[in-house]
Amino acid sequence: MKWSWKLGRLAGIDVHVHATFFILIAWIVLSHWRAGHSLASVVTGVAFILTLFLCVVLHELGHALTARRYGIGTRYITLLPIGGVAMLERMPRDPKQEIAVALAGPMVNVVIALGLWGWLAAVNALVPADQLSVAGGPFLERLMVVNIFLALFNMLPAFPMDGGRVLRAILTMRMGHVRATRTAASIGQGLALVLGLFGLLVNPFLIFIALFVWIGAAAEAGSAHMQSALSGVTVGQAMLTDFHAIAPNDTLARVIELTLAGTQKDFPVMAEERVIGVLTQTDLLQGLRAGGEHSTVNEVMQKDIHNADIAEPLDAVMEKFQTSECRLVSVTSSGRLAGIVNLDNILELLQFQEILQERET
Ligand code: ZN
Repeated sequence: MKWSWKLGRLAGIDVHVHATFFILIAWIVLSHWRAGHSLASVVTGVAFILTLFLCVVLHELGHALTARRYGIGTRYITLLPIGGVAMLERMPRDPKQEIAVALAGPMVNVVIALGLWGWLAAVNALVPADQLSVAGGPFLERLMVVNIFLALFNMLPAFPMDGGRVLRAILTMRMGHVRATRTAASIGQGLALVLGLFGLLVNPFLIFIALFVWIGAAAEAGSAHMQSALSGVTVGQAMLTDFHAIAPNDTLARVIELTLAGTQKDFPVMAEERVIGVLTQTDLLQGLRAGGEHSTVNEVMQKDIHNADIAEPLDAVMEKFQTSECRLVSVTSSGRLAGIVNLDNILELLQFQEILQERET
């Protein structure tokens, strides 16, 4: 994610913090200073929010470590002011696994809340709930209440909340993945609407959350739509067959010539009939800035390349684009280069398919 910094590594997963998170900290400092005009209340406020976000990290780790049990890695965890995001490499296809991964996060908050409750009850420190407020009351008890709230809030049956994923998985068992996602997304957006209206009357912060839920639901519906359009299509149908390849010792001046003469922006690099790298327009521009037009392709190309067989389903390739920095996939047919495919190709194909499908219905 742009605008985020790495905080550290937990269980082999990078934890990032987003720049907007510091706005939240600044807001906490300011509001506590206004309320108490004492350094102590500011320090407690910031300590509380940091401890709360530690719970959020543990919640995300719950998702990530459960996904790992099913062989799914997590690229990173990012902390945002509204909570955390665990960026899984992919979602499990099996609905039962999706339910387990989705439930693992809120379960962590339940366990934390139970632990705190057990401790507070044991030392006889529980105060009645009506003596608690957002900024007042015993630290640990407030933390317990917030963890209960986190578990409940995340179980709302709306994307991108964990409850939305559970709902989708349950629906998937009845109606298939694509229709289930569409239905779950509609329910999510309906809920967002209610939440937003409620927010207008009660608390403006809810409007902000409603917006976040609305966008999350729309994104999920969009990706399900794309999946249904891509299903049954092979890489061979979308690939570009009319393209130029370049050699590793071509100069960048030659690539400029080719770029200007046609519409191709990304080039496969071939040596002895084999694709050994890829030169995208971004690589070209960076190479030009660093070494000028006499640099060779070999010096600036990406050597980490992805390859697909001509008969492979297109959605598998789409996943490669979405989960890695990869911009161009070379397509082979019985080992020989048959074409290339990039995101533009796939989007073009989607557009055509959509129009043709609309005409049919
Ligand atoms: Zn979660």
